[in-house]
Amino acid sequence: MNKTLFSTRREFLRKSACVAAAASILPLISSAVPQKKNSGTHPASQSQQTPGFQLPPLPYAYDALEPFIDTETMRIHHDKHHQAYVSNLNKAIHEYQLAGDLSLDELIREVGPKPAAFRNNAGGHWNHTIFWDIMKPGGKKHPEGELLDAIHAQFDDIEDFRRKFATVALSHFGSGWAWLVVTNTGRLNLFSLPNQDNPLMDIAAKKGTPILCLDVWEHAYYLKYQNLRNEYVDAWWKVVNWDEVMKRYQTAKK
Ligand code: MN
Repeated sequence: MNKTLFSTRREFLRKSACVAAAASILPLISSAVPQKKNSGTHPASQSQQTPGFQLPPLPYAYDALEPFIDTETMRIHHDKHHQAYVSNLNKAIHEYQLAGDLSLDELIREVGPKPAAFRNNAGGHWNHTIFWDIMKPGGKKHPEGELLDAIHAQFDDIEDFRRKFATVALSHFGSGWAWLVVTNTGRLNLFSLPNQDNPLMDIAAKKGTPILCLDVWEHAYYLKYQNLRNEYVDAWWKVVNWDEVMKRYQTAKK
């Protein structure tokens, strides 16, 4: 693990969290309407900073999740796919002259009025960022504490929860994600959303605060598992970072 990169990543996460926390007290200064370029008449566009969302480094080595998630998939998934969402998000911010100081959370919570590029690419950036975090090699086999209690309260047992999550992941048609969220009433909910939609989005068909998710786009598993999405889902449980999921559960419950 490159210590410099790791430090940078921590800073990135800390900054994101601070901006997200500040979001509730700051006016939202976004615009869905593309401004004329180089018009010189829009003061905000004159002082606009380069947006500069950056690809966060993986929190572990590319081969860390072997043999469950293969090195080549991790490399392409992170360096090419996730990078493309980040680059295209920055491009869209520039093209539509969106205020450069919006946090990723602010962006995805208000994608509805914005061009589709924001829904797809801010979603893609957010979703992949949490995805890397909720995986790690050699983690706990299952959650503990309050999250385990919550699972027991709503499912027969942890195996029943796993089966139902897997059913959501396997029955999702086409590209998308399976989600475990905390609803606004504090309950757990499982569902899938298409493409790069995210349960925090204003236009999401189903909502909640994500604490666990699984990428079921073919790019997430096709190199190793080809059409066998079920084998990918089975293997993925071996690399879930339950400490991170439990942490997110605690935050979501507050
Ligand atoms: Mn993906």
